[in-house]
Amino acid sequence: MALMITEECINCSACIPECPNTAIYEPGDPWELFGESYESLNDEITYIVPDKCTECVGHHEEPQCVPVCPSDCIVPDPNFNESKEDLLAKKEALESNG
Ligand code: SF4
Ligand code: SF4
Repeated sequence: MALMITEECINCSACIPECPNTAIYEPGDPWELFGESYESLNDEITYIVPDKCTECVGHHEEPQCVPVCPSDCIVPDPNFNESKEDLLAKKEALESNG
């Protein structure tokens, strides 16, 4: 399951450098994948790109962004219900293409 950031986020940016997949972006910033740039998914709060979040599977045992968040506002995204195998495949696809 990809993770998402809720409205309790205070935009402290602590989670951003923790992500091994560069899946977390400042509000309003465009996100990038395979050399392409895409419009921001959220102009108000720091956001996670579901296509890039593997729940840290393949990199770490636990999601790295969750423990550094002072607001406890990084939670599973019910719209992206993926198995561990799905997440590993996503991680490998991210690495093979860029
Ligand atoms: S769970 Fe891991 S891959 Fe997903 S946003 Fe957090 S640090 Fe990035
Ligand atoms: S660490 Fe938490 S509060 Fe800070 S930007 Fe990330 S999600 Fe928002």
